[in-house]
Amino acid sequence: MVSYQLPTQLAAIPRFPLLEGATPIQALPRLSKQLGVKLFVKRDDLMGLGGGGNKLRKLEFLLGEAMALGADTIITVGGRQSNHARLTAAAAARAGLACELVLTRNVPRHDEAYQHNGNILLDELFGATLHDLPGEADALAYAEARAEELRACGQRVYVCPLGGSSPLGCLGYVACAWEISAQANAMELDFAQLIVPNGSGGTHAGLAAGFALLEGHAQRVKSYTVLAPLSQAKATTEQKVADTLALLQASHPQPEILLDGEHLGEGYGIPTDEMKEAVQFLARTEGLLLDPVYGGKAFAGLLHDIRSQRYQPGASILFLMTGGVPGLFAYRSAF
Ligand SMILES: *Cc1c(COP(=O)(O)O)cnc(C)c1O
Repeated sequence: MVSYQLPTQLAAIPRFPLLEGATPIQALPRLSKQLGVKLFVKRDDLMGLGGGGNKLRKLEFLLGEAMALGADTIITVGGRQSNHARLTAAAAARAGLACELVLTRNVPRHDEAYQHNGNILLDELFGATLHDLPGEADALAYAEARAEELRACGQRVYVCPLGGSSPLGCLGYVACAWEISAQANAMELDFAQLIVPNGSGGTHAGLAAGFALLEGHAQRVKSYTVLAPLSQAKATTEQKVADTLALLQASHPQPEILLDGEHLGEGYGIPTDEMKEAVQFLARTEGLLLDPVYGGKAFAGLLHDIRSQRYQPGASILFLMTGGVPGLFAYRSAF
Protein backbone atom coordinates (compact mmCIF):
# COMPACT_ATOMS: atom_id res chain seq x y z
CA MET A 1 0.00 0.00 0.00
CA VAL A 2 1.45 3.39 -0.97
CA SER A 3 1.54 6.15 1.59
CA TYR A 4 1.27 9.86 0.96
CA GLN A 5 0.31 13.00 2.83
CA LEU A 6 -2.62 15.17 1.79
CA PRO A 7 -2.30 18.98 2.00
CA THR A 8 -3.32 20.13 5.48
CA GLN A 9 -6.42 22.09 4.32
CA LEU A 10 -7.73 18.92 2.66
CA ALA A 11 -6.81 16.57 5.49
CA ALA A 12 -8.71 18.79 7.95
CA ILE A 13 -12.09 18.45 6.18
CA PRO A 14 -14.43 15.82 7.73
CA ARG A 15 -14.83 12.58 5.80
CA PHE A 16 -17.14 9.64 6.38
CA PRO A 17 -15.03 6.61 5.37
CA LEU A 18 -16.47 4.54 2.51
CA LEU A 19 -13.25 3.25 0.87
CA GLU A 20 -10.69 0.81 2.26
CA GLY A 21 -7.61 2.62 0.97
CA ALA A 22 -6.16 3.05 -2.51
CA THR A 23 -7.86 1.33 -5.46
CA PRO A 24 -5.44 -0.66 -7.67
CA ILE A 25 -3.69 0.49 -10.84
CA GLN A 26 -3.40 -2.48 -13.23
CA ALA A 27 -1.57 -3.00 -16.52
CA LEU A 28 -3.53 -4.31 -19.54
CA PRO A 29 -0.86 -6.29 -21.43
CA ARG A 30 -3.03 -7.90 -24.10
CA LEU A 31 -4.80 -4.70 -25.04
CA SER A 32 -1.53 -2.74 -24.94
CA LYS A 33 0.08 -5.18 -27.35
CA GLN A 34 -2.80 -4.85 -29.81
CA LEU A 35 -2.85 -1.05 -29.62
CA GLY A 36 0.88 -0.28 -29.49
CA VAL A 37 0.70 1.83 -26.31
CA LYS A 38 1.05 0.94 -22.60
CA LEU A 39 -2.44 1.03 -21.23
CA PHE A 40 -3.20 0.96 -17.49
CA VAL A 41 -6.49 1.17 -15.59
CA LYS A 42 -7.20 2.80 -12.22
CA ARG A 43 -9.88 0.56 -10.71
CA ASP A 44 -12.33 2.98 -9.08
CA ASP A 45 -14.96 0.37 -9.92
CA LEU A 46 -13.41 -1.83 -7.20
CA MET A 47 -14.75 -0.56 -3.91
CA GLY A 48 -16.33 -2.48 -1.09
CA LEU A 49 -19.66 -0.65 -0.82
CA GLY A 50 -22.79 -0.79 -2.96
CA GLY A 51 -21.08 -2.09 -6.09
CA GLY A 52 -18.45 0.66 -6.05
CA GLY A 53 -17.75 3.59 -8.36
CA ASN A 54 -16.45 7.14 -8.54
CA LYS A 55 -19.34 8.64 -6.55
CA LEU A 56 -18.11 7.02 -3.33
CA ARG A 57 -15.04 9.30 -3.28
CA LYS A 58 -17.30 12.36 -3.41
CA LEU A 59 -19.74 10.88 -0.91
CA GLU A 60 -16.98 10.50 1.69
CA PHE A 61 -16.81 14.31 1.89
CA LEU A 62 -20.55 14.95 1.38
CA LEU A 63 -21.54 12.49 4.10
CA GLY A 64 -18.76 13.90 6.28
CA GLU A 65 -20.56 17.25 6.11
CA ALA A 66 -24.03 15.69 6.48
CA MET A 67 -22.97 13.82 9.63
CA ALA A 68 -21.24 16.92 11.05
CA LEU A 69 -24.52 18.82 10.56
CA GLY A 70 -26.44 16.08 12.39
CA ALA A 71 -28.51 15.04 9.35
CA ASP A 72 -30.82 12.05 9.59
CA THR A 73 -31.94 12.09 5.94
CA ILE A 74 -30.15 12.58 2.62
CA ILE A 75 -31.86 13.49 -0.66
CA THR A 76 -30.19 13.46 -4.05
CA VAL A 77 -31.13 13.72 -7.74
CA GLY A 78 -30.26 11.96 -10.98
CA GLY A 79 -31.50 10.11 -14.04
CA ARG A 80 -33.45 6.90 -13.59
CA GLN A 81 -30.29 4.75 -13.97
CA SER A 82 -28.11 7.07 -11.89
CA ASN A 83 -25.06 5.37 -10.35
CA HIS A 84 -24.73 8.35 -8.02
CA ALA A 85 -28.26 7.74 -6.70
CA ARG A 86 -27.51 4.03 -6.12
CA LEU A 87 -24.27 4.76 -4.27
CA THR A 88 -25.90 7.52 -2.20
CA ALA A 89 -28.54 4.97 -1.14
CA ALA A 90 -25.83 2.43 -0.23
CA ALA A 91 -23.73 4.99 1.66
CA ALA A 92 -26.84 6.25 3.49
CA ALA A 93 -27.59 2.69 4.58
CA ARG A 94 -24.06 2.36 5.95
CA ALA A 95 -24.29 5.71 7.74
CA GLY A 96 -27.77 4.97 9.16
CA LEU A 97 -29.48 7.81 7.28
CA ALA A 98 -32.82 7.71 5.49
CA CYS A 99 -32.41 8.28 1.75
CA GLU A 100 -34.74 9.76 -0.87
CA LEU A 101 -33.89 9.78 -4.59
CA VAL A 102 -35.48 12.20 -7.06
CA LEU A 103 -35.06 10.50 -10.44
CA THR A 104 -36.00 11.95 -13.83
CA ARG A 105 -36.83 10.01 -16.98
CA ASN A 106 -34.28 12.02 -18.97
CA VAL A 107 -33.15 9.21 -21.30
CA PRO A 108 -35.42 8.02 -24.14
CA ARG A 109 -35.41 4.34 -23.16
CA HIS A 110 -38.68 2.82 -22.10
CA ASP A 111 -38.13 -0.92 -21.99
CA GLU A 112 -38.64 -3.01 -18.87
CA ALA A 113 -34.91 -3.48 -18.18
CA TYR A 114 -34.17 0.26 -18.33
CA GLN A 115 -37.12 1.17 -16.17
CA HIS A 116 -36.80 -1.54 -13.52
CA ASN A 117 -33.46 -3.39 -13.61
CA GLY A 118 -29.88 -2.22 -12.97
CA ASN A 119 -29.52 0.70 -10.59
CA ILE A 120 -33.27 1.01 -9.89
CA LEU A 121 -33.41 -2.54 -8.56
CA LEU A 122 -30.48 -1.75 -6.26
CA ASP A 123 -31.87 1.63 -5.09
CA GLU A 124 -34.89 -0.27 -3.79
CA LEU A 125 -32.76 -3.00 -2.19
CA PHE A 126 -30.83 -0.29 -0.31
CA GLY A 127 -34.14 0.92 1.11
CA ALA A 128 -34.29 4.33 -0.60
CA THR A 129 -37.59 6.13 -1.23
CA LEU A 130 -37.91 6.87 -4.94
CA HIS A 131 -39.60 9.87 -6.60
CA ASP A 132 -40.29 9.28 -10.30
CA LEU A 133 -40.30 12.53 -12.34
CA PRO A 134 -40.70 13.24 -16.06
CA GLY A 135 -37.57 14.02 -18.08
CA GLU A 136 -37.98 17.79 -18.22
CA ALA A 137 -38.72 18.22 -14.47
CA ASP A 138 -36.40 20.33 -12.28
CA ALA A 139 -35.20 17.56 -9.96
CA LEU A 140 -33.17 19.82 -7.67
CA ALA A 141 -36.12 22.19 -7.09
CA TYR A 142 -38.30 19.15 -6.33
CA ALA A 143 -35.63 17.85 -3.92
CA GLU A 144 -35.42 21.21 -2.12
CA ALA A 145 -39.22 21.36 -1.78
CA ARG A 146 -39.30 17.78 -0.47
CA ALA A 147 -36.54 18.68 2.01
CA GLU A 148 -38.66 21.59 3.33
CA GLU A 149 -41.64 19.26 3.71
CA LEU A 150 -39.55 16.78 5.74
CA ARG A 151 -37.97 19.57 7.82
CA ALA A 152 -41.46 20.78 8.73
CA CYS A 153 -41.98 17.29 10.25
CA GLY A 154 -38.76 17.61 12.28
CA GLN A 155 -36.32 15.69 10.05
CA ARG A 156 -32.79 17.00 9.50
CA VAL A 157 -32.26 16.83 5.76
CA TYR A 158 -29.09 17.12 3.70
CA VAL A 159 -29.55 17.75 -0.05
CA CYS A 160 -26.78 16.49 -2.30
CA PRO A 161 -26.34 17.94 -5.84
CA LEU A 162 -26.32 16.14 -9.22
CA GLY A 163 -23.48 13.64 -9.37
CA GLY A 164 -22.28 14.77 -5.92
CA SER A 165 -20.28 17.40 -7.82
CA SER A 166 -20.32 20.32 -5.41
CA PRO A 167 -16.85 21.74 -4.62
CA LEU A 168 -16.94 19.65 -1.44
CA GLY A 169 -17.71 16.48 -3.44
CA CYS A 170 -14.90 17.30 -5.92
CA LEU A 171 -12.43 17.04 -3.03
CA GLY A 172 -12.77 13.26 -3.33
CA TYR A 173 -10.94 13.48 -6.66
CA VAL A 174 -8.46 16.09 -5.43
CA ALA A 175 -7.43 13.46 -2.87
CA CYS A 176 -7.42 10.85 -5.65
CA ALA A 177 -4.86 12.91 -7.59
CA TRP A 178 -2.50 12.45 -4.62
CA GLU A 179 -3.30 8.75 -4.52
CA ILE A 180 -2.59 8.29 -8.24
CA SER A 181 0.57 10.34 -8.08
CA ALA A 182 1.93 8.26 -5.17
CA GLN A 183 1.01 4.98 -6.92
CA ALA A 184 2.59 6.10 -10.19
CA ASN A 185 5.80 7.02 -8.35
CA ALA A 186 5.89 3.65 -6.59
CA MET A 187 5.34 1.86 -9.93
CA GLU A 188 7.93 4.10 -11.66
CA LEU A 189 5.24 4.96 -14.14
CA ASP A 190 4.99 8.36 -15.84
CA PHE A 191 1.73 8.26 -17.76
CA ALA A 192 1.27 10.78 -20.54
CA GLN A 193 -2.47 11.07 -20.02
CA LEU A 194 -5.13 10.21 -17.45
CA ILE A 195 -8.48 9.60 -19.20
CA VAL A 196 -11.85 10.08 -17.47
CA PRO A 197 -15.51 10.35 -18.54
CA ASN A 198 -17.17 13.74 -17.96
CA GLY A 199 -20.80 13.70 -16.77
CA SER A 200 -21.47 16.33 -14.13
CA GLY A 201 -17.77 17.23 -14.38
CA GLY A 202 -16.78 16.69 -10.74
CA THR A 203 -14.40 13.82 -11.37
CA HIS A 204 -12.46 15.77 -14.00
CA ALA A 205 -12.61 18.99 -11.95
CA GLY A 206 -11.33 17.34 -8.77
CA LEU A 207 -8.46 15.63 -10.59
CA ALA A 208 -7.61 18.81 -12.53
CA ALA A 209 -7.53 20.84 -9.30
CA GLY A 210 -5.43 18.13 -7.63
CA PHE A 211 -2.89 17.87 -10.43
CA ALA A 212 -2.74 21.67 -10.72
CA LEU A 213 -1.74 21.78 -7.05
CA LEU A 214 0.72 18.89 -7.47
CA GLU A 215 2.31 19.81 -10.80
CA GLY A 216 1.33 23.41 -11.62
CA HIS A 217 -0.97 22.43 -14.52
CA ALA A 218 -3.85 20.04 -15.31
CA GLN A 219 -2.75 18.84 -18.75
CA ARG A 220 -2.29 15.31 -17.51
CA VAL A 221 -6.08 14.87 -17.22
CA LYS A 222 -8.36 14.60 -20.25
CA SER A 223 -12.09 13.87 -20.31
CA TYR A 224 -14.69 12.87 -22.87
CA THR A 225 -18.09 14.49 -22.43
CA VAL A 226 -21.03 12.06 -22.11
CA LEU A 227 -23.72 14.48 -20.88
CA ALA A 228 -23.38 18.13 -21.92
CA PRO A 229 -22.14 19.38 -25.29
CA LEU A 230 -18.47 20.38 -25.31
CA SER A 231 -18.67 24.14 -24.66
CA GLN A 232 -21.14 23.71 -21.80
CA ALA A 233 -19.17 20.83 -20.24
CA LYS A 234 -16.00 22.91 -20.46
CA ALA A 235 -17.61 25.91 -18.74
CA THR A 236 -19.09 23.74 -15.97
CA THR A 237 -15.86 21.87 -15.38
CA GLU A 238 -13.76 25.07 -15.30
CA GLN A 239 -16.17 26.61 -12.78
CA LYS A 240 -15.91 23.52 -10.58
CA VAL A 241 -12.10 23.62 -10.73
CA ALA A 242 -12.14 27.29 -9.66
CA ASP A 243 -14.64 26.64 -6.84
CA THR A 244 -12.73 23.59 -5.61
CA LEU A 245 -9.42 25.50 -5.52
CA ALA A 246 -11.20 28.34 -3.68
CA LEU A 247 -12.60 25.88 -1.12
CA LEU A 248 -9.01 24.77 -0.46
CA GLN A 249 -7.94 28.42 -0.23
CA ALA A 250 -5.40 27.68 -2.95
CA SER A 251 -4.22 30.75 -4.82
CA HIS A 252 -3.36 28.67 -7.87
CA PRO A 253 -4.21 30.29 -11.25
CA GLN A 254 -7.05 28.62 -13.17
CA PRO A 255 -5.45 25.70 -15.07
CA GLU A 256 -6.32 24.96 -18.68
CA ILE A 257 -8.40 21.80 -18.94
CA LEU A 258 -8.65 19.23 -21.75
CA LEU A 259 -12.04 17.98 -22.94
CA ASP A 260 -13.23 16.13 -26.04
CA GLY A 261 -16.86 16.37 -27.18
CA GLU A 262 -16.68 14.01 -30.16
CA HIS A 263 -17.98 10.83 -28.55
CA LEU A 264 -21.23 11.93 -26.89
CA GLY A 265 -23.29 10.72 -29.87
CA GLU A 266 -26.95 11.77 -29.85
CA GLY A 267 -26.96 12.51 -26.16
CA TYR A 268 -26.74 11.36 -22.56
CA GLY A 269 -27.48 7.68 -22.12
CA ILE A 270 -28.06 7.11 -25.84
CA PRO A 271 -25.82 4.24 -27.04
CA THR A 272 -23.37 4.67 -29.91
CA ASP A 273 -21.94 1.85 -32.05
CA GLU A 274 -18.41 2.74 -31.01
CA MET A 275 -19.45 2.58 -27.31
CA LYS A 276 -20.73 -0.97 -27.84
CA GLU A 277 -17.55 -1.92 -29.69
CA ALA A 278 -15.43 -0.44 -26.86
CA VAL A 279 -17.35 -2.28 -24.12
CA GLN A 280 -17.09 -5.58 -26.02
CA PHE A 281 -13.43 -5.07 -26.88
CA LEU A 282 -12.35 -4.51 -23.25
CA ALA A 283 -14.56 -7.38 -22.05
CA ARG A 284 -13.21 -9.83 -24.64
CA THR A 285 -9.55 -8.78 -24.49
CA GLU A 286 -9.07 -8.25 -20.76
CA GLY A 287 -12.24 -9.54 -19.03
CA LEU A 288 -13.09 -6.08 -17.67
CA LEU A 289 -16.50 -4.39 -17.60
CA LEU A 290 -17.29 -0.81 -18.57
CA ASP A 291 -20.70 0.82 -18.26
CA PRO A 292 -22.64 1.94 -21.37
CA VAL A 293 -23.27 5.57 -20.32
CA TYR A 294 -19.88 6.84 -19.09
CA GLY A 295 -16.88 4.55 -19.29
CA GLY A 296 -17.99 2.94 -22.57
CA LYS A 297 -18.10 6.27 -24.39
CA ALA A 298 -14.88 7.57 -22.83
CA PHE A 299 -13.06 4.35 -23.70
CA ALA A 300 -14.45 4.57 -27.26
CA GLY A 301 -12.92 8.05 -27.44
CA LEU A 302 -9.59 6.81 -26.17
CA LEU A 303 -9.54 3.90 -28.66
CA HIS A 304 -10.34 6.34 -31.46
CA ASP A 305 -7.48 8.64 -30.43
CA ILE A 306 -4.98 5.79 -30.09
CA ARG A 307 -5.98 4.32 -33.47
CA SER A 308 -5.65 7.73 -35.14
CA GLN A 309 -2.11 8.03 -33.77
CA ARG A 310 -2.67 10.87 -31.34
CA TYR A 311 -0.28 9.13 -28.92
CA GLN A 312 3.41 8.31 -29.33
CA PRO A 313 3.96 4.57 -29.83
CA GLY A 314 4.64 3.04 -26.40
CA ALA A 315 3.14 6.00 -24.50
CA SER A 316 1.77 5.16 -21.04
CA ILE A 317 -1.92 5.97 -20.64
CA LEU A 318 -4.03 5.57 -17.51
CA PHE A 319 -7.79 5.09 -17.93
CA LEU A 320 -9.97 5.71 -14.86
CA MET A 321 -12.59 2.96 -14.53
CA THR A 322 -15.43 4.76 -12.75
CA GLY A 323 -17.86 1.88 -12.14
CA GLY A 324 -21.47 1.74 -13.30
CA VAL A 325 -21.64 -1.97 -14.16
CA PRO A 326 -25.34 -2.20 -13.06
CA GLY A 327 -26.08 -0.02 -16.11
CA LEU A 328 -25.19 -2.96 -18.38
CA PHE A 329 -28.25 -4.84 -17.11
CA ALA A 330 -30.45 -1.81 -17.81
CA TYR A 331 -29.09 -1.66 -21.38
CA ARG A 332 -29.64 -5.34 -22.17
CA SER A 333 -31.58 -4.48 -25.33
CA ALA A 334 -28.72 -2.30 -26.65
CA PHE A 335 -26.30 -5.22 -26.58
C1 LIG B 1 -21.17 9.80 -12.56
C2 LIG B 1 -20.31 8.89 -13.33
C3 LIG B 1 -19.26 9.38 -14.12
C4 LIG B 1 -19.02 10.85 -14.35
O1 LIG B 1 -18.53 11.51 -13.23
P1 LIG B 1 -18.80 13.07 -13.05
O2 LIG B 1 -18.03 13.43 -11.86
O3 LIG B 1 -20.28 13.23 -12.89
O4 LIG B 1 -18.33 13.75 -14.29
C5 LIG B 1 -18.44 8.48 -14.77
N1 LIG B 1 -18.67 7.16 -14.68
C6 LIG B 1 -19.67 6.64 -13.94
C7 LIG B 1 -19.83 5.17 -13.91
C8 LIG B 1 -20.52 7.49 -13.24
O5 LIG B 1 -21.51 6.97 -12.53
